[in-house]
Amino acid sequence: MKPHGPIPPGFRADPDDMLLIGGDRAEALADMAGDTPLFVYDSAMLTARVAEWRAAMPAEVQLHYAMKANPYAPLLAWMARLVDGFDVASGGELKAALASGMSAADISFAGPGKRDRELEAAIAAGATLNLESAGEAERALSIADHLGVVPRLAVRVNPDFDLKGSGMKMGGGAKPFGVDAADVPSLVRRLIDAGADWQGFHIFAGSQALDAAAIAETQAQTVALAGRLANDIGHSPALVNLGGGMGVPYFPGDKAVDVAAVGDALAATLTARDPVLAGSRFAMELGRWLVAEAGVYLTRIVDRKTSHGETFLVTDGGLHHQLAASGNFGTVIRRNYPIAVAGRFGAAPAETVSVVGCLCTPLDRLGDQVALPGAAVGDLIAIFQAGAYGASASPATFLGQGPAREMLV
Ligand SMILES: *Cc1c(COP(=O)(O)O)cnc(C)c1O
Repeated sequence: MKPHGPIPPGFRADPDDMLLIGGDRAEALADMAGDTPLFVYDSAMLTARVAEWRAAMPAEVQLHYAMKANPYAPLLAWMARLVDGFDVASGGELKAALASGMSAADISFAGPGKRDRELEAAIAAGATLNLESAGEAERALSIADHLGVVPRLAVRVNPDFDLKGSGMKMGGGAKPFGVDAADVPSLVRRLIDAGADWQGFHIFAGSQALDAAAIAETQAQTVALAGRLANDIGHSPALVNLGGGMGVPYFPGDKAVDVAAVGDALAATLTARDPVLAGSRFAMELGRWLVAEAGVYLTRIVDRKTSHGETFLVTDGGLHHQLAASGNFGTVIRRNYPIAVAGRFGAAPAETVSVVGCLCTPLDRLGDQVALPGAAVGDLIAIFQAGAYGASASPATFLGQGPAREMLV
């Protein structure tokens, strides 16, 4: 038997032990959707998550949603009313963000390799570009000139540090992201001299960290770096985007981030900040922390078989929707995501099984030798922490399968 990750708090069952999502029975949601596999996102959990963040953070810090974590249109429209801005990373995401109701002035566009037509769309809409290089800056300036508009331009800084303990490092050393800190002052002066509306800095050091102290240390380094750069430039940034980094517990032993501790440390950091940043606004950009827990992936057992003494539950889902849960999206060692039998939620484990998907590859494993209550063909398996990097970050067309259904409840 191998352990699985912790089921997120807040999920309950009805008296028949059927998992409830947003107050609805999992089986009823599958009926409503018409078929499985199915992603269900709980809107009330999204709202509660944002409220939890706001209660913990200093009031002056804004919250941006990094929409690559989950771009499902109804979820975006819901988030647009809850957060202060969206961070996008492609022309396609920009379009979706604008369609969600978020105002262009509250959308920022980061990401390496922005094509001219993507730069043009962002400048024409009035969104902020987080510039990733001096070359991109020149292209943006000339496109804005051509359009006859003053572009809103921020500079993404490749910091000289990274986020300790993060699952994905996005700063420190040679990186395709951002402009090396040493080269930032001259680039910002160039933008200001060219007449652009310089919006400030975007400094993103890493992702999926659970240790509040490491996140706080990175934020303190980030604010200090922004202060040094601003002094060097001789202008104060309108906005310092501090990045994000707050992760969620996917695996056995993982503990949720102590959000209150992050907030207290950030308040102290901002109180002590360099005077050059006195009038600057601050933002955090979060993806998975905001949306992962609100999502559940429901997949139906199609077959049950044994091989060399091991029991397999074969489902209609798989890595084509849940690449991360299968262990094939940026993980070195495969470990089990939180998983349950939806119709026996909370019941004691009765057997050790491996839950696999329907793809013809040994990589397609959703639960490896996990202890679960007994389950039969036709039962629903629930995978948790499915609200981020699921549907849109998995190869849905692999083996001709096609996308899962999605639903916001
Ligand atoms: C991916 C990304 C995020 C979101 O990361 P999460 O781990 O989902 O919070 C935020 N900012 C930038 C620049 C990113 O590339």
